[in-house]
Amino acid sequence: MKKPFDYALIRTLYTAAAVLLALFCVVSAICIFCLVPVIWWLGLILLAAGGAGIGSLFPFRKYMQKRIDEQPEWIEPPVSEEELEKLRKKNEQRRAKLAEITPEEQALLDKNAEALANGDFEAFDDEVEARKEQRERELRALDDEFVPADGESLLEVRHLKMYFPLKKTIGGKVTLALRAVDDVSFTLKAGETLGIVGESGCGKTTMGRSILKLYKPTGGQIFFEGRDIAGYKPSKMRPLRTKMQIIFQDPYSSLPPRSTVGGILSEPVKVHHIVPAAEVKDYVLRLMEQCGLRDYYYERYPHEFSGGQRQRICIARSLSVKPKLVICDEPVSALDVSIQAQIINLLRNLQEELGLTYLFISHDLSVVKHISDKIGVMYLGTMVEFGDKKSIFHNPMHPYTQALFSAVPNPNPDVKMDRVVLKGDIPSPADPPKGCKFHTRCPIAKEICSHIAPVYKEYEPGHFVACHCYPQEEE
Ligand code: SF4
Repeated sequence: MKKPFDYALIRTLYTAAAVLLALFCVVSAICIFCLVPVIWWLGLILLAAGGAGIGSLFPFRKYMQKRIDEQPEWIEPPVSEEELEKLRKKNEQRRAKLAEITPEEQALLDKNAEALANGDFEAFDDEVEARKEQRERELRALDDEFVPADGESLLEVRHLKMYFPLKKTIGGKVTLALRAVDDVSFTLKAGETLGIVGESGCGKTTMGRSILKLYKPTGGQIFFEGRDIAGYKPSKMRPLRTKMQIIFQDPYSSLPPRSTVGGILSEPVKVHHIVPAAEVKDYVLRLMEQCGLRDYYYERYPHEFSGGQRQRICIARSLSVKPKLVICDEPVSALDVSIQAQIINLLRNLQEELGLTYLFISHDLSVVKHISDKIGVMYLGTMVEFGDKKSIFHNPMHPYTQALFSAVPNPNPDVKMDRVVLKGDIPSPADPPKGCKFHTRCPIAKEICSHIAPVYKEYEPGHFVACHCYPQEEE
């Protein structure tokens, strides 16, 4: 249980020392050229001292490299009882503050409950309801804070939020935020593929990037191998970078144009010390073969390849550090249909061979159906339906999922397409509609939908839906 070696700090100190000594040498050299004999001698001594100092750094550098090579795996030290008690107290305080309701607000809530019982939505106060819903969501997140991670899952996401501030007061208080991901929860077991579908702008990519900590999440917990990494600093995330990788959507802009394929694939292997330095080239060539790339591509540059080949390079780059979780962010949307099939098959074969876990983001439902074990449907930053592939495809419960799936073409000409066409555009995540976020486009929206947000509940084992069409109260 050793804390990770702080490479960044040591490297900064090392560089600062080298720069100071170099300056020392330069000043001394200037002194030597001065005509005053005393300064001349002083300069000579300084030059010798600077040179000796720089020379002494070389053994230190070797020592540094050895320490980095022998870097043990970072294991989270257990939280002490004292610290846990402090966290619990903090949680209790937040809870008490959230649960505090003023008599005026209680009166409004009672009025709302009465209006709801009478079906009188004219008298219903949406603002009060929205505040109540927000409070309940925060309380649920606080309740889950001390629930231990599900030991069977590789990735467990709880109440994940990613808000981007749009307007702030002078004091820094956020007054308007774009809610790109708003209270998303799911679990993913090792070796499985979770497909995330939804329209452009629904928060799929932001969610993937927040899980990887490329963005700092606004709230929620992200358990990876049982550790909550949501609050990890970049230096603490570094040992985990090898275990979590991403394949970007655009293979044209995600490769450095001035590096050869060999350089692109070797760099992460060297940086993370995946294999000894002498074996890097063989390792990269084996990896290229695994990803369907010829060995003579090693010296070529990205611009010499087609889109499909570039995506293979991107896949090889992400696999070069032996990850466990790969976030595939629309990896085939920029490719031709024939190439898409090759890449999907490659991803499936690699999954079987290496036991990888995928979070597969796409808006192409047929691709998601082909590759996924579980499916999550997102709308305007929230998960509206989640379940295994069979239940989602055979029994889509949410009207948005039904509309999405009705657009999938059926190759059988005898099957009548029952297409549900959604009207209007996806609303702005900076100003989402009150109540159910989908009510402005839902073909079966009811009065209640525009006032009260539905609860995200499990209606069948492992099948979660948020919709007023299904019983909302606990049985
Ligand atoms: S809650 Fe209402 S508006 Fe939302 S999806 Fe269900 S029926 Fe449609």
